[in-house]
Amino acid sequence: MYETQYHRPTSLAEAASLLSGGADAKYLGGGMTLIPTMKQRLAAPSDLVDLRHVAELKTGIEVSGRSVKIGGGTTHAEIAAHKGMEAIAPGFHYLASVIGDPAVRHMGTIGGSVANFDPAADYPAALLALSATVHTDKGSYSADEFFLGMFETALGDGEIVTGVSFEAPDASGYEKFRNPASRYAMCAVFAARRGGEARIGVTGAGQGGAYRWTEAEAALSSSFDAAALDGLSVPEDNMLSDLHGSASYRANLVKVVTKRAVKKAIGQG
Ligand SMILES: Cc1cc2nc3c(=O)[nH]c(=O)nc-3n(C[C@H](O)[C@H](O)[C@H](O)COP(=O)(O)OP(=O)(O)OC[C@H]3O[C@@H](n4cnc5c(N)ncnc54)[C@H](O)[C@@H]3O)c2cc1C
Repeated sequence: MYETQYHRPTSLAEAASLLSGGADAKYLGGGMTLIPTMKQRLAAPSDLVDLRHVAELKTGIEVSGRSVKIGGGTTHAEIAAHKGMEAIAPGFHYLASVIGDPAVRHMGTIGGSVANFDPAADYPAALLALSATVHTDKGSYSADEFFLGMFETALGDGEIVTGVSFEAPDASGYEKFRNPASRYAMCAVFAARRGGEARIGVTGAGQGGAYRWTEAEAALSSSFDAAALDGLSVPEDNMLSDLHGSASYRANLVKVVTKRAVKKAIGQG
């Protein structure tokens, strides 16, 4: 066993102060990544600063017209149960419903997922495709500038993700090709169309974590239809390769899954 001091702040300022006071302190969101990591002895924080009682993170989901704002402490289950979200951003609503299993969805938070930036996490693909903004206690970042590489974000030391916001697109669809054991994405794609602009976020496939497939975006901005992708191919170079699937397998999946996501977005999936 190793010792960990547990703290339960109720404000962002108190949380930040507790974190900076610990030798190797970590924030605790829903614990769905951090606790298993500690159990495997891959992390041994001196202090756990529990964010679950921080009022500024418990603002829930606000849908106003087509503007969406989600507090950092919002669970995946809360997003999956939100009717207003389902009405204006069905792809995002569906995405939350296929994260992990019921226990993970009821404990895990969007703030924790975004801060962690697992290479197969679902939200980052959506936030990139939605041109979303990530809000923190220090400021805000566009999704494009926030996600830097596998497990690497623009967050500074002790910075807390307080929420995300985006304008609902005209059409959106999410398709997830799951690893049946872990339920994480082998490849998942969020397709969004706003006016004549298409954006495609891919997760689970790339070595650097979620990324935008810009060639597909160009093709789909001309014609938002799965057939627009027929002439494209995905290079294997930067694809993940592991016992679940080779780089060439994942490269193929990116195209197949993107087509399915587009079909869903236009009501053909
Ligand atoms: C069995 C299983 C299956 C899963 N399947 C999926 C899946 O299919 N798709 C998917 O996307 N995810 C999946 N997850 C991960 C899950 O979504 C987690 O909820 C998420 O990765 C982390 O969120 P959390 O709130 O639990 O954060 P925690 O585990 O508490 O924290 C994760 C990291 O983020 C930091 N952190 C937490 N909150 C904040 C914050 N607000 N600001 C700054 N830093 C913060 C912590 O210090 C820690 O480093 C799965 C997890 C498990 C255990």
